[in-house]
Amino acid sequence: MDANSPLIYLDNNATTRIAPEVFEAMVPHLTEQYGNPSSAYRFAKAAAEAIKTAREQVAALLHCQPRQIYFTSCGTESNNLAITAALRVSGHRHVVLTEVEHSANIKMGEWLEEQGYGVTWLRVDAHGRLSLEDVAAALREDTAVVSVMWANNETGTLFPVEEIARLCAERKILFHTDAVQAPGKIPLDLSDSPIDFLSLSGHKLHAPKGVGVLYARRGTKLRPYVMGGGQENGKRGGTENVASIVGLGRAAELAAENLVDEQTRVRALRDRLEAGLLERVPGLRVNGDAENRLPNTTNLAFTGVEAEAILLALDRQGICASAGSACTTGALEPSHVLTAMGLSPDLARSCLRFSLSHYTTEAEVDTALEVIPRIVAELKDQSVRPAA
Ligand code: PLP
Repeated sequence: MDANSPLIYLDNNATTRIAPEVFEAMVPHLTEQYGNPSSAYRFAKAAAEAIKTAREQVAALLHCQPRQIYFTSCGTESNNLAITAALRVSGHRHVVLTEVEHSANIKMGEWLEEQGYGVTWLRVDAHGRLSLEDVAAALREDTAVVSVMWANNETGTLFPVEEIARLCAERKILFHTDAVQAPGKIPLDLSDSPIDFLSLSGHKLHAPKGVGVLYARRGTKLRPYVMGGGQENGKRGGTENVASIVGLGRAAELAAENLVDEQTRVRALRDRLEAGLLERVPGLRVNGDAENRLPNTTNLAFTGVEAEAILLALDRQGICASAGSACTTGALEPSHVLTAMGLSPDLARSCLRFSLSHYTTEAEVDTALEVIPRIVAELKDQSVRPAA
């Protein structure tokens, strides 16, 4: 990266910066307030109190009761906890997942298949949408749980999780949603919701990495996945990550406060970036459901250009974005989300995701609109020019 280019961070679905207010709330718990929340003396009570406050703050964001909130180490653990609990509580051996879940759920599904469990993988259409009929058709007598993400991390497409949860409730089947990408971007109200389990992750909402939440509906039984001490009402062992939990609580408050900004200013910035690129880059297309989409996310196919090459060039200009693909052992795997939507592997390898946040400015979007089309044009030019 050019030492003079300021960082333009357009990868907020990957992770987010810690909000200054969050950091400030955490500091005492990383310094003088180091008591173990399970200890009996007054000094440690401050830590226990701080966790209680954070639980109330997260519950307020979700419009649920504090006792329905369990702190975990991350979104991945929350997903694992919900699915394993549903299997253990129901005694059933079939789960329903979508093909476009985060790897946190895909790997779990693959492991369950290896262990002899039945897994139905729901398909999506070309816009990344699920059909409720397909969900209904997948439900079986022995289905333990249906797990469908609320918002897709790559395309931002939103799934009708309330409707799916209602379908499941009618059949007395548990329903889990990975809502890691949702808080602060769309309203979440569980006050009268049929959703049984919901996962969140701190680092997606301007809290630190390494802290997550699982919500469990009243009456929905939870069985610990991480076993140990009686922390989290006996449902999640391990001494609490107090500072991060405190940070997550404060971040939940900010997410509720900033929801309007995300839905208006951030959405307008995302739309400006998307429309500006569509105007300036020939052959560009948008992936995902144009209507039912997170307000901060755009996923674009730069047909004929390798996304990885664009990313490298953007990186040199200090712009962070993401190719929805994982580069493992040197082989570039096309995104499983985009290929599930019917994109060819080559087209999927040309796609980039830009995800904005409360901290994204108009000037940053202007710079991106100036830099990205230039880089793409240069790369296209190089690919048609005969090698010297
Ligand atoms: N689910 C979704 C939709 C995500 O985007 C992510 C993170 O990328 C996760 C789960 C995993 O969360 P964590 O990194 O906290 O384990």
